Amino acid sequence: MSEGVAAEFRALYGSGPEGVWAAPGRVNLIGEYTDFNEGFVLPLALPHTTVAAVSRRDDGVLRVHSRDVPGDPVRLDPAALEPGAVEGWAAYPAGVVWALRAAGHPVGGADVHVASTVPTGAGLSSSAALEVVTALALNELYGLGLGRPDLALLAQRAENAFVGVPCGVMDQMASACATEGHALHLDTRDLAYRQVPFDLAAHGLRLLVVDTRVGHALGDGAYAERRAGCEAGARALGVRALREVDPAQLPEALGRLTDETVRRYVRHVVTDNARVARVIELLDAGDPRAVGPLLVEGHASLRDDLRVSCPELDLAVGTAVAAGALGARMTGGGFGGSAVVLVAEAAAEEVTAAVTKAFLGAGFAAPRVFPVVPGAGARRLV
Ligand code: ADP
Ligand code: MG
Repeated sequence: MSEGVAAEFRALYGSGPEGVWAAPGRVNLIGEYTDFNEGFVLPLALPHTTVAAVSRRDDGVLRVHSRDVPGDPVRLDPAALEPGAVEGWAAYPAGVVWALRAAGHPVGGADVHVASTVPTGAGLSSSAALEVVTALALNELYGLGLGRPDLALLAQRAENAFVGVPCGVMDQMASACATEGHALHLDTRDLAYRQVPFDLAAHGLRLLVVDTRVGHALGDGAYAERRAGCEAGARALGVRALREVDPAQLPEALGRLTDETVRRYVRHVVTDNARVARVIELLDAGDPRAVGPLLVEGHASLRDDLRVSCPELDLAVGTAVAAGALGARMTGGGFGGSAVVLVAEAAAEEVTAAVTKAFLGAGFAAPRVFPVVPGAGARRLV
């Protein structure tokens, strides 16, 4: 893909790019809505990436273009960037330039052209892929010397403060720091991370993504509400963040909470953190098949306690498991987006067909179901 993107860059801007970079989307295997509770997550990078061809400009101008958005390049003045000032998709790369400059990094002008194979708006973090690939390219071209976690934090800052989406740091960390064949065990309190081997083929397994094709934008207000509820729970329990609640003390902690909604949110976060730990034990022990039931438990918790699922996600998970999958759960923020399904290779086709049939039978649009393997994190291609 890099050659095509470089050729398009040349056609757009008149000369070839100084370099071409790629950053992946992600799916989260387990640990949902834990990242704003200083908790644990276990995402993996997709083989699908956003590729960016980039050159510096010495006149300070920023131009951005995407193959996936028809039209001329968007032309911006980096010195005049401020939150809310840029409309549409260009806010993502412009936000990265803004975040870098606001943190004191000497980023000048640039020409940027991107093209992506990450489905957008499917809960697979095309937004983080776009931010991280922009940040990595500028880091290298302008010799900023920033490490991967710093790039992820700046990309998150771009999305939070410039684009205006209150996401946690998981997506950007997964895109920036994942490695092929591994899931990324991330502690969101201090961004410590470890690569956990997740070799599907060696165990005769497939990981399917079911993109329900239901946009997840409706979840925006709900995300903020869950976040506020978790913070209220932490305050009521006298801890800095829910990550500090020991799963063994959960019944006692729940007993101290008077608000029924907050109690459900706390139960989800504490049990999902514990599920991350159990999944990692199983992966480290070389037993990825045994992860299945924990995915199903995690889905039930998101559906019943956090209440961020939707009929399409519940149908995808329920049908996949009934058709023989080892486990399945919604992944990402919910209210649409995608589910992940862990399935033995031999049953993958049957499960895919069953999910598609169930969607059509329920009057939903056909989902997009595809296998993924843990891909590499952000990198320079050319
Ligand atoms: P997700 O991250 O789950 O794909 P988001 O709503 O967070 O969904 O981000 C999707 C948005 O990111 C798109 O609407 C678009 O503005 C921007 N985006 C992502 N990838 C691209 C791309 N290749 N070209 C242009 N814009 C993109
Ligand atoms: Mg996103």
